[in-house]
This record gives sequence, C-alpha cells and structure tokens, in this order.
Amino acid sequence: MMFRILIIVLSMLLVSSVTAGDYEQKRMDMIEEIQSMSGLTGNKTGHKRFSDKVMTALAKVKRHELVPETTRVNAYANRPLPIGHGQTISQPYIVALMTELLAPEAEHKILEVGTGSGYQAAVLAEIVSQVYSIEIIEPLGQRAQQDLQRLGYQNIQLKVADGYYGWKEAGPFDGIIVTAVASHIPPPLIKQLKPGGHMVIPVGGRFQVQQLMLVEKDSNGKVKTRQILPVRFVPLTGGHTTAE
Ligand code: SAM
Repeated sequence: MMFRILIIVLSMLLVSSVTAGDYEQKRMDMIEEIQSMSGLTGNKTGHKRFSDKVMTALAKVKRHELVPETTRVNAYANRPLPIGHGQTISQPYIVALMTELLAPEAEHKILEVGTGSGYQAAVLAEIVSQVYSIEIIEPLGQRAQQDLQRLGYQNIQLKVADGYYGWKEAGPFDGIIVTAVASHIPPPLIKQLKPGGHMVIPVGGRFQVQQLMLVEKDSNGKVKTRQILPVRFVPLTGGHTTAE
C-alpha cells in the first residue's frame, strides 16, 4: 500500500515538472514517429504519407490533457495507454491511420463509437464540422464530456449508449469510426453511413487476430470492404446480439 502511494506521489511530482513547452516538443516528436511509421506500413495501408490535415490535427490536440494525470508523462509515447475502467486510449499512429482512412473533409459529419478519453473525437473535431461520439461506460463518457468542454471543443456531441446501434436521429454520417473490436460490422452502422461514405472498424475476436477494415459505400449504396492491417483493440461490449 505504502509502495503504491509512493509511486503515485512520484509520478505526480514528475508530471508537475513537465512544462507546456516539453509537451509541445514531445507532440512534435510523436508526429515525426507517426510519419516514419506510415512510410513503413504504406504498402499495406495504401497511405505512405499521412495528409497534412490529419497531421496538423494531431499536432494541435493536447493528448496530455485527455489522459489520467498519472500517465501524462507518457501521453506522447506512440503506444496505447490505460484510461481507467479497463479501457485504453489508442496508439497515436493508429489514431492517425484511422483518421486518414476516413478521408475526412471540412463539411463532414462523423460518428465515433467508443469515445474513451475523447482524444480521437478531438482529432476529428479539428478537421470536420460535426462529431458525434458514443461511449458505453458512463464515467468515461462524463469525463470525456468535461475534458472536451474544458478544451473548448464545441462541435462534439457525446452520449452514453451502446454504439452498436449508432445514432439514428443524428445520421446519416459521412464517416463512421469504431474504436473497439466487433465480431462483425454492425448493420445499423452500415445503414447510417451515407452513400460515398467511409467506415473504419476493427473486426475479429478479443483473443483472435483482429483486422482493421475499411468499409466503403458507393454512390449506389453498394458496400465494399478491405482489410488494412492486423490490430489489437478492446472489445465492443453491450447487450446487442442481433442487428436492429
Ligand atoms: N477512441 C478512444 C480514445 O480516443 O480515447 C479510445 C477508445 S477505447 C480503445 C474503446 C472504447 O470503446 C472504450 O472506452 C469502451 O468503453 C468503448 N466501447 C466498447 N463497447 C462500446 C459500445 N458498444 N458502445 C460504445 N462504446 C463502446
């Protein structure tokens, strides 16, 4: 017990000694690392270099303001981090890749399933006009709401619900991003995707190989899917067993 308290006190001291300038530098280092990873994975993802708009958004969002205080010093490490309730904030490279695959445009309305820390929603909100994000764990949804408000994001709507069913009243969406792994692509989300829209979603089992999938709906409503990369995500939970 004493040891745990000591660790918490030490990490808080460490956090308070990191200045805003240090975070800025760490954020720029993270951006460089993401671009070099995109070069290495470009043959598989089809994106050898991520767009300026995606990288500018990642350069703006204060990731350290969206993670728990005890993990702040690692906020810009290129790996997932715990955010409480058994959940994680995704690796920055994966956030960049999923954002790139969505092909976001300024006038777009995007749905995110799995708000978590609110980081992915903030990255999207830097690019598109409206972001709708759903979180199933109430305390995480509430914390993200407070943090995103504190950071001044006014174009993000959040709700606590099972995101498997999407957000019908707010749809249809130009893009949908799911940040938890599902056993299949939820049919309600396909319905809520506009013709011409993109959905990015990890598909697979909790302890099996998971594949990041790009789902494209063409202008006639025909759906095409493509495997992008093997990934590792926390599961999409909730009581859904069948499609709506
Ligand atoms: N996008 C998040 C971020 O930027 O921090 C990371 C999300 S974390 C990898 C996955 C999140 O999906 C968790 O917060 C989890 O509670 C949430 N989740 C799992 N199943 C869900 C569901 N059916 N509906 C909505 N959210 C869900």
